[in-house]
Amino acid sequence: MKILIVLAHPEAKSFNSALYDTAIDTLKKSGHEVKTSDLYRGNFQPVSDERNFTRLKNGSFFKQQYEELHAVEHNTFSIDILSEQEKVEWCDIMIWQFPLYWFSVPAILKGWVDKVFAMGKFYDNGKIYDNGFSVGKKAMLSVTTGGPKKYYIPEKYGDMHSILFPIHRGILEFLGFTVLDPHVIYSVERLTPDERKTILNDWSEKLMAQLAEMD
Ligand code: FAD
Repeated sequence: MKILIVLAHPEAKSFNSALYDTAIDTLKKSGHEVKTSDLYRGNFQPVSDERNFTRLKNGSFFKQQYEELHAVEHNTFSIDILSEQEKVEWCDIMIWQFPLYWFSVPAILKGWVDKVFAMGKFYDNGKIYDNGFSVGKKAMLSVTTGGPKKYYIPEKYGDMHSILFPIHRGILEFLGFTVLDPHVIYSVERLTPDERKTILNDWSEKLMAQLAEMD
């Protein structure tokens, strides 16, 4: 299978980076094709504006979605966006590895979403959910938290599925992806080194089991 892994963490020695490296190693060793987008190391520019395009249809009033439709027709997406779009179009499965920031994705990943999933290419009028361009592809979130699992209940922070709903339903399923169960590691900083080692092994096994199920 063709798998795209997107990492959004500023520190290359972070636990998120270890989960990302583990996924790459595991998937490559089991014979899958892997492409990656390490957003910080790749210096991804997350601000979405007229620089998304090499030429504008309307230089006097910027309207992103109109410009996206124009860019699809005239091939005027900037090169950084184009290369990310090609990876998403290429993959069968997309994995996002990120720390939960304010119950959401880090800004760099939100910027990636804002820029990459352009109208006319990834969604359009009537081309959403079951008719989305990405129908047939799968997506999985691999998330870490600072907060402990016991707080992720409705009476406190809210349960994790509700927190991830805007990403699952508002982005991934909207585009047509089938969303796989998220991989969530709570309270990362409070784990012992041995617990972290076990988590990396379990992540590797979970990925292999998940892919074996799909074959
Ligand atoms: P790290 O601190 O990088 O890793 C933890 C430990 O693992 C480190 O000691 C590291 O050295 C070690 N490690 C690295 N590699 C390995 C390896 N291979 N084997 C074993 N150990 C290793 N949390 C919430 O719960 N909810 C929120 O809404 C939320 N919002 C936030 C908003 C912001 C802006 C920020 C900065 C943080 C927020 N957090 C929140 C906390 C954040 O989610 C956690 O800090 C993060 O998930 C921890 O993951 P990490 O990869 O950064 O951990």
